Amino acid sequence: MTNVIHKSNRNAPPCVLQDYASVYRDFDWAAARAQLDGLPRAGGLNIAHEAVDRHVLHGHGDAVALRWIAKSGATQDISYRSLAARSNAFANVLERLRVAPGDRVFVLADRIPELYVAALGALKHKNVFCPLFSAFGPEPIQSRMSIGDARVLVTTARLYRRKVAELRGRLPGLAHVLVIPDDSGEGMPDGCLDLAALLADAGTDFTIPATSADDPALLHFTSGTTGKPKGALHVHGAVVMHYMTGRFALDLRAGDVFWCTADPGWVTGTSYGIIAPLAIGATLLVDQEEFDAERWYRTLASERVDVWYTAPTAIRMLMKQGDELPKRFDLSRVRFVASVGEPLNPEAVVWGHEVLGLAIHDNWWQTETGGIMIANYRSMDVKPGSMGKPLPGVEAAIVDHTASGIRVIDAPEHTGELALKVGWPSMFRTYLNEAARYEKCFVGDWYLTGDLARRDADGYYWFVGRADDLIKSSGHLIGPFEVESVLMEHPAVAEAGVIGKPDPIAGEVVKAFVALKTGHAADEATRKALLAHARKRLGAAVAPKEIEFQNSLPKTKSGKIMRRLLKARELGLPEGDTSTLETST
Ligand code: ATP
Ligand code: MG
Repeated sequence: MTNVIHKSNRNAPPCVLQDYASVYRDFDWAAARAQLDGLPRAGGLNIAHEAVDRHVLHGHGDAVALRWIAKSGATQDISYRSLAARSNAFANVLERLRVAPGDRVFVLADRIPELYVAALGALKHKNVFCPLFSAFGPEPIQSRMSIGDARVLVTTARLYRRKVAELRGRLPGLAHVLVIPDDSGEGMPDGCLDLAALLADAGTDFTIPATSADDPALLHFTSGTTGKPKGALHVHGAVVMHYMTGRFALDLRAGDVFWCTADPGWVTGTSYGIIAPLAIGATLLVDQEEFDAERWYRTLASERVDVWYTAPTAIRMLMKQGDELPKRFDLSRVRFVASVGEPLNPEAVVWGHEVLGLAIHDNWWQTETGGIMIANYRSMDVKPGSMGKPLPGVEAAIVDHTASGIRVIDAPEHTGELALKVGWPSMFRTYLNEAARYEKCFVGDWYLTGDLARRDADGYYWFVGRADDLIKSSGHLIGPFEVESVLMEHPAVAEAGVIGKPDPIAGEVVKAFVALKTGHAADEATRKALLAHARKRLGAAVAPKEIEFQNSLPKTKSGKIMRRLLKARELGLPEGDTSTLETST
């Protein structure tokens, strides 16, 4: 396996973050904030002003803010000026309905332009925007809207009929349902308002009221990988982080075509699928369609994507399709590729380098952190398997728990919990209805992430596993990621998920669940080959003792392998909250 992939200078312009060490050393948040405008009359910081209106004020109203690709393949361009006007109209609709500032506006829709208009309009009106993934069933929708005390829901007629109508009686706080009409011919459902008609009637001028950087802006539910999803609340000041990290970690600049494949139903799809690229003045590419390898390669080529932000599952699915398909497309325009959401196996980083001609740059963050915290930068060599180095303005540490609290471990190569010094602008401000749980995340000045990691002597961070997933076998501590990555190196393996299975002698033994690539048989010979490969690479103590083949592994709807479910199923225990489980698995 390649240990280092040297930085690539393909497709100048030069990197936004050219000299990591000096920018990190000299960084200060006040200077970062000063790169944004603030509200011209009322003062303060409002995400939607920074993302949209200020570009119009600066004379860039004609630039394309959003290029939408419908499922049919038809495209629609929305300029910054038009997005400003349309989001103003939405803010005026909220005003007319007497929705109070701070009230939560939920959106349940697939990736259609109205979603983006509603998100930005709600932020202008100082409402809290909460996106719901459109593939959720009624139960997860109901529980999130109850926890979030939804006042307004924006959805489509089809989704309303299929999922929300039956819940209305259980959502007494929901005052208005604004429905985007469809062409089903069934008309407006009862108890709903026609959003298209309201927008057509609304004025397109709106003055954003004074907004403090501490005013709540976004509510995001976590992915539910380790248990019941938590509702993390974020503030308007987060835009400083989105802007800065979009530039430094994603190498984005004004005028770039940027494609973030995450759905806005998850934090990535809002922080980087809406706010960061717009705040920077880029063109946000949005594809309404779900994953399709050929369509994705075609989109990268024909839309002339400059920067692409995606996730390990998507990359693994592309890898599964083989290396011939991408050769049919000219992908040479792409300047930078990044990934987030789960550990990115070294194999995938190297695949990117070989097939796309660009290493895939992993970065790490969480719903709670609101923005990228640790990243591989375009200007830095990539060590495949590493998450990279902390963003300027972010202080990360590896800590051990002690009887009296925590201890920061300065020595390299020590595995401990990844902690972040509080104070970055997009830090979550609470878990809704779970204040005690929020408090427990902090010890002194440190936020504890619940993830285990180590830092090497060059300052690169390496993900080891979630604290809950760590395997203790015969006195060894084993991170599932390490074992999964080695299994992924084998040509037969498409996906791997590793758990600790209780064992009377070893405490736990390593068990791997493996999905094979097409053309490989789930038989004894393959199992033996995989076990031998793992033993050779990891040694007998760390290699799996058992391998079980599955067609595909259980994942969250955002694409993360749910190890807790593999474990519960293995042990015959209750499956717990499965509201975010991808149902096809
Ligand atoms: P829940 O908190 O409900 O269990 P979740 O932690 O999966 O769900 P998110 O906030 O969406 O919800 O995901 C953040 C987590 O995803 C991180 O804490 C980490 O475990 C994992 N993660 C994200 N990016 C990376 C990465 N680059 N490498 C390794 N792990 C990552
Ligand atoms: Mg989490």
